[in-house]
Amino acid sequence: MTTPLINSARLWKSLDEISVYGATPAGGLHRLAASKEDGQARDYVVAAARELGCTIRIDALGNTFMRWAGTDSSAKTILIGSHLDSQPLGGKYDGIYGVMAGLELLRILHESKTETKHAIEVAVWTNEEGARFAPAMMGAAYFAGKFTAEELLVRKDVDGVQLGKSLTEIGYAGTDKVSPVEHQAYFEIHIEQGPILQDENLQIGVVTLVQGMRWFRVGITGQAGHTGTYPMETRRDALVAASHLIKAVQQIGLDQPLTGRATVGHIVVTPNSPNVIPGHVELMVEFRNPEIAVLDVMTASLNQALKETADKYGVEVESRQELDSATINFTQELVDLVEQAAASCGKTSKRMISGAGHDACQLTSVMPTTMIFIPCDKGISHAENESITQEWAADGAQVLVETVLAFDSK
Ligand SMILES: [Zn+2]
Repeated sequence: MTTPLINSARLWKSLDEISVYGATPAGGLHRLAASKEDGQARDYVVAAARELGCTIRIDALGNTFMRWAGTDSSAKTILIGSHLDSQPLGGKYDGIYGVMAGLELLRILHESKTETKHAIEVAVWTNEEGARFAPAMMGAAYFAGKFTAEELLVRKDVDGVQLGKSLTEIGYAGTDKVSPVEHQAYFEIHIEQGPILQDENLQIGVVTLVQGMRWFRVGITGQAGHTGTYPMETRRDALVAASHLIKAVQQIGLDQPLTGRATVGHIVVTPNSPNVIPGHVELMVEFRNPEIAVLDVMTASLNQALKETADKYGVEVESRQELDSATINFTQELVDLVEQAAASCGKTSKRMISGAGHDACQLTSVMPTTMIFIPCDKGISHAENESITQEWAADGAQVLVETVLAFDSK
């Protein structure tokens, strides 16, 4: 069987059309989970899927499933998915591309009258970003059985609005029961959100794993005081101590060439006044690496740096680990399949790790799962100038179709 060719112009047009819901003046996207714009974007995709004869199901978390029927009713369903929500002032392709590539897959099957043994279902996962309601990857985690709907639907945004109420307002508080046991495997295609594919002029990233991550909340306590009267020599300035620690964290990342990621991205200075010596600083240290052993080394180095900071600046330092997310390996057989599919389509590819978390991470515990990456310009993501080319979008969608049809015919 020859794989039908996706319609590049149609895919590109659909990416354009859906990006009006939450479009920002700077060309980005502001479409928070369960917002009015999220509802409009879902309506757009659902209407398109209905035109193809797909059945629509919506579960209690608003996860939306668009089902293309297979010829063998005893075969489990192939699941494809991603998300339509964005970060505040985020980009038009993170997540959205994966859903639209899934829609293009359904469209090309319909148009080419291609029959599949397995049913194919494209999922829109609710609240991947976690920007409005915590935690991130919420809908996929619910689907994988990690939370109950009751505990998630009462989560509130900063204005005190509950997720459940927001989903009801946009018409996506569903009642369908959709269970992972119905599904055979999960495929997610996503922009890389990093620069590697573009730098190496490659079309496809064959994702093997999502790297592990650790978060530490660090508190540094010195002595607040008057900036005009208190001598420099005997100060215990918590922010000066923090600046030492931040440099040390950067070095911990640099000490793991190419793979180390070490960041202080959040800091709160108290009292944060121009004429008060900072008495207290709270900051978050984040480490990422594919190897647990390396994360252990980085953690040990952090403990050393915390001690040095305390000794050198006469401050009290405490640290608490708040997150320990293990490295997630994708299913070897599916990774191989994506690699073969890329080659069959004549696309260049390389195996790579994902630096970021994705809905797919949640699915690995309930079914064979893998991911496909396409390049994104300069690796910029979670920003309004996130961008991809029509060609990159089309290459990825073609490999997705090839992969899914190869899986279907096994
Ligand atoms: Zn995403």
